[in-house]
Amino acid sequence: VGEPSDRWRADPGATTGTDVECEGWRQEAALRMLDNNLDPEVAERPADLVVYGGTGRAARSWDAYDAIVAELRELGDTETLLVQSGKPVGRFETHERAPRVLIANSNLVGRWDTWEQFHELEAKGLIMYGQMTAGSWAYIGTQGIIQGTYETLAEAGRQHFDGSLEGRIVVTGGLGGMGGAQPLAVTMNGGVCIAAEVDEGRIDRRIETDYCEAKTDDLDEAIERAEGAAESGEPYSVGVHGNAADVLEAMLERDFVPDIVTDQTSAHDALEGYYPSGYTVAEADELREADPDRYERESLETMERHVDAVLELQERGAVAVEYGNNIRGQVADFRADGGSEDPWPVSGATARERVPFDFPGFVPAYVRPLFCEGKGPFRWVALSGDPADIHRTDEAVKELFPGKDALHRWIDLAQERVSFQGLPARVCWLGAATSETPQASRSGAGETGDEEGLTERARFALRINDLVADGEIRAPVVVTRDHLDAGSVASPNRETEAMRDGSDAVADWPILNALLNCAAGADVVSVHDGGGVGIGNSLHTNNHVVLDGSGLAAEKAERVFTTDPGMGVVRHADAGYERALEQARASDIAVPMEDR
Ligand code: NAD
Repeated sequence: VGEPSDRWRADPGATTGTDVECEGWRQEAALRMLDNNLDPEVAERPADLVVYGGTGRAARSWDAYDAIVAELRELGDTETLLVQSGKPVGRFETHERAPRVLIANSNLVGRWDTWEQFHELEAKGLIMYGQMTAGSWAYIGTQGIIQGTYETLAEAGRQHFDGSLEGRIVVTGGLGGMGGAQPLAVTMNGGVCIAAEVDEGRIDRRIETDYCEAKTDDLDEAIERAEGAAESGEPYSVGVHGNAADVLEAMLERDFVPDIVTDQTSAHDALEGYYPSGYTVAEADELREADPDRYERESLETMERHVDAVLELQERGAVAVEYGNNIRGQVADFRADGGSEDPWPVSGATARERVPFDFPGFVPAYVRPLFCEGKGPFRWVALSGDPADIHRTDEAVKELFPGKDALHRWIDLAQERVSFQGLPARVCWLGAATSETPQASRSGAGETGDEEGLTERARFALRINDLVADGEIRAPVVVTRDHLDAGSVASPNRETEAMRDGSDAVADWPILNALLNCAAGADVVSVHDGGGVGIGNSLHTNNHVVLDGSGLAAEKAERVFTTDPGMGVVRHADAGYERALEQARASDIAVPMEDR
């Protein structure tokens, strides 16, 4: 990727305050979001342009980064910049209501859509892995994922443990950009977390930012402390320095069975995300350079032991769930290539007795009912850099939704426990439900207007826009979301696993979602391949809308935050989910063939 740019070296991270270096706030917002993704507080390896999730990058090279910055600084209010896998490739005159930036990352034609092809093209400098919010400039540090993890674990608590994780032990792996949210999300739910992480520096980082409480090399000590905390009902988290596969096997040897077992190592990428057993991080990094084929094979062998250990823990009574890193898919492919009749490495079970997909993914297990209502991780970022702006939005979301107890609990906990990284930001799950209570303005001029029929997301965005217009918030706010959302992703091993009608792999939906976001006038729209679960395994989209207090922003926000969650409802209604059909009726969303 070349040497870091002078701009980044001189002052890494987003510019803050109210002075802009671009022609307008929409372009300025894109620039600040890009720079925020590369803030050393936010990104995992910013000097390599890596934001999170294995090699998820914000730009293809430092030259491409400089060129994007130059383009955004010159971009007019009626122009649209095209970014292809992290490199600016064109700029066209469009119109004010069109997106300012369109992004496509990592997309390959079906038959070529493999890691092998991707790595060849990457080596030629032709493509970049955009992950989800890395290449779409919407990553906000570990806090971005924390509410999703909190919600998912809360749902697990509701389904399996009488509503709470108090006194329960969750075992997981991976304390990276996303996985680092796990210990805090567990303790926020009252539970105890043991997280295996091979890279000690990552454990230290989570301890520094208060996401994890302690670390140890000694598993017995970790188990003893965890059991002590669970017995007294105290929340507690500890990072165990070691390979997750080894740690799970050691738990089996000790006959220690946690209440929940999951994993967030970067298993989606066997070469650059996951670490094989038997090496320190430095040794493994050397092996990857010297002999990538061997690295990948050993990595997959470790994953096979890892999955087998999860299955064995499940057999012994743990609730097992895959947390969206495609470790089951990787092992299934590996076993298919290597002869699936081999006995499993840990348990000795035969292929007939056990398959990787014997434990479910977290979406069908816990998240799909929310997707049916168009609910997903809505997030917003204060471009001023002033935490007070986010605190004002915290108040606003609570005022706007007085009856949502879980949301209030989350906002209070987040204020208390979640440190901001880079630009202050917040996330909460909102959906397509509509309300008849007039509270926010559609004009953007700070007046109270009629909001009948507005979705939760639109109501809240319009309220923020009013607060910007009134000067209660110092500078514009960018509203965006994860790619993991109700109507924005096709990912058969994750978000669309086990769809009711079998439409798991149909990728028309995210493409329609990106097109609809353009039609609705989002300011940045992106479509990526391979986020979360690796190249060829998913297609997904993102959007940004800049709330600068103007009428134009209100118009865009109302359209985008009606259509975008609406697509989640439509997608699930089409798949035959009754809850989505009910939501469509309640929110007056047209589902053309519903009754035919
Ligand atoms: P990351 O690359 O920043 O971190 C991965 C971490 O795992 C690193 O710290 C690495 O040292 C550690 N690791 C790798 N192999 C290991 C092993 N064998 N044992 C112990 N530690 C190991 O990635 P991230 O952003 O934290 O994401 C992790 C994974 O979870 C990815 O596959 C991502 O796609 C997935 N993910 C899913 C969801 C979701 O579905 N909601 C959300 C976030 C992340």
